[in-house]
Amino acid sequence: MADTQPKGDAESMESVLHEERKFPPPPAFAAQAHVKSLDEYETLHKESVDNPEKFWAEQAADLHWFQKWDRVLEWDLPDAKWFVGAKTNLAYNCLDRQVEAGLGDRTAIIWEGEPTPGGQPEVRRISYKQLLDDVSRFANVLKDLGVKKGDVVTIYMPMVPELAVAMLACARIGAPHSIIFGGFSASAIRDRVEDGQSKIIITADGGWRRGKPVPLKENVDEALTMTDRVEKVVVLERCQNPVTMKEGRDHWWHECAADASADCPAEHMDAEDLLFILYTSGSTGKPKGIMHTTAGYMVYTATTAGITFDLKPATAQAESPDVYWCTADIGWITGHSYIIYGLLPNRVPTLMYEGAPDTPDKDRFWDIIERHKVTKFYTAPTAIRAFMKWGSEHIDKHDISSLQLLGTVGEPINPEAWMWYHQTIGNEKCPIVDTWWQTETGGHMLTPVPGATTTVPGSCTRPFFGIDAAVVNSEGDEMPTNAGGILVIRKPWPSMLRGIYGNRQRFIDTYWSKVEGYYTAGDGARKDQDGNFWIMGRIDDVIVVAGHNLGTMEVESALVSHPAVAEAAVVGFPHEIKGTGIASFVTLRGGVEGTDQLVEEIRDHVAHELGPISKPDLVRFTDALPKTRSGKIMRRLLRDIAAGREITQDMTTLEDVSILAKLQGQG
Ligand code: ATP
Ligand code: MG
Repeated sequence: MADTQPKGDAESMESVLHEERKFPPPPAFAAQAHVKSLDEYETLHKESVDNPEKFWAEQAADLHWFQKWDRVLEWDLPDAKWFVGAKTNLAYNCLDRQVEAGLGDRTAIIWEGEPTPGGQPEVRRISYKQLLDDVSRFANVLKDLGVKKGDVVTIYMPMVPELAVAMLACARIGAPHSIIFGGFSASAIRDRVEDGQSKIIITADGGWRRGKPVPLKENVDEALTMTDRVEKVVVLERCQNPVTMKEGRDHWWHECAADASADCPAEHMDAEDLLFILYTSGSTGKPKGIMHTTAGYMVYTATTAGITFDLKPATAQAESPDVYWCTADIGWITGHSYIIYGLLPNRVPTLMYEGAPDTPDKDRFWDIIERHKVTKFYTAPTAIRAFMKWGSEHIDKHDISSLQLLGTVGEPINPEAWMWYHQTIGNEKCPIVDTWWQTETGGHMLTPVPGATTTVPGSCTRPFFGIDAAVVNSEGDEMPTNAGGILVIRKPWPSMLRGIYGNRQRFIDTYWSKVEGYYTAGDGARKDQDGNFWIMGRIDDVIVVAGHNLGTMEVESALVSHPAVAEAAVVGFPHEIKGTGIASFVTLRGGVEGTDQLVEEIRDHVAHELGPISKPDLVRFTDALPKTRSGKIMRRLLRDIAAGREITQDMTTLEDVSILAKLQGQG
């Protein structure tokens, strides 16, 4: 794919941002937390990095194994194997283990549907016992349809409990799933089915989105006119949306499940058996089919979920004091790891919501938090910036005082958005965990440990236990304090990707070729005097202005700190005099008008905050920014727009093509 942007050497980046605000963990929170002080974090972090095998064996001991491992770790990067020789099953650890411990009646999933029939929310609470029955029954359905251990099962479903059932059923019988976000179109389904060589798709007649059914089955039908690989389609009835069923190929979920037995022993999976394939968001190029295997992913997600969100388990006597809600879709890694797989083993109810944050009204999230008394809330900067834009009146209508901890993931969070989250949602009493990680890493890599870490707006702070993260140059030497460089992980961790499905060369080129012997994340970062990491932007997006390498994050954050600005993206563009100029695309807060005077004011504001090198040459107002369907700004497309070039790049994960057309029309 052609990407003709004048690129930075990505060797180094200069930091222009200064953030002084610091927030120690609230004492009441720290007192009851799993990790209670910075000392405790530092001691444990050092031990866990010096001797990861000991640390991870201790974490794994809490889980269920059909057979224990011979060795915790065998590695020769880029390859690593964890819990070598062990047999386990992730679905068993999510379900059976709880039922066997006498927690069968405790809540596993709280589900809220989108429609509010007669003004009433549609809610289901599902116990571990019930979920185990549903999963076992559906696992038998899959077997009856010919699915065997190792067969890739494609799942394209709305955010309903049956999506969790389908994925856990796959894990139970050892069929790796490939989940496709329900917002993708037919061609994305075709591409992923082909890439994964999948012969079966599980879908639904539709899923509710802003009061309308999304035609999932229709999209599958269209995809299947473009590939003949798929032999079976299972269709869940969700919306009573009319669909065509093809004789012999298509089967109704409820009909298949009606006579299926609720007894399906969990397959004894090898630690390194493939658990799932999941495609990255496509922010920097064509999506990559990331492979995760069973045991390492299981141990890592359960451990990180428990510690980062400071989860408190249910017992045989009582429900968990926590109600945890992650607003991501299960179609993304965040949903895989931190709605289902990391949560169920922790014995905390995980809330799933089917719909949009503004349906029926812009207070939907706060209403859900109030009614379900959510204690831990995990969302994305893109959502937080939208809430800010909508205004706090929607929040004021609700009592959200049950919240104890807030999390964010997906993009760097601009310090102003962090402060707003802290004050308006957290009421200044909730620690914020800004978690940096990737589809490839499987779980949190850099994150506050909420009872221990002093947080700083805009920083994802310190490495998780067992993680040896560093900021280096291309020789692998650590950069001096506060100098931006390449973010790498120097040692294997349990949930690291095992490859890109069917593409060994791309795996090596993308992650293992930039700095010898280290995993390269593709992000630029700096580490400050307190050991806190700051993500400065994607290495691909570095802007080289007059010999200075600038990351996108800091300029964008300065733009967002102007009171008129809701969201901003910056890219480099060819500039007659400077070589490269800075173009910024800006959305404004509600009610603000984009005048020429405001353009000048915003440019001056950035120059004042960061210095003259960072002053944008162009400020262009827009109603919306081009984003991936997971809500990330797609700067690579904006680069072409700013340069006035035709876009020939991969756009399969772009959320709304019309935004590009509008931006190009203006340019
Ligand atoms: P692709 O790899 O296809 O270009 P992507 O990188 O957006 O897409 P994901 O795996 O969904 O795919 O996202 C991981 C990236 O998201 C990280 O590399 C980082 O750039 C960004 N990210 C995630 N969490 C954070 C965070 N807390 N702070 C800063 N950046 C984050
Ligand atoms: Mg990526």
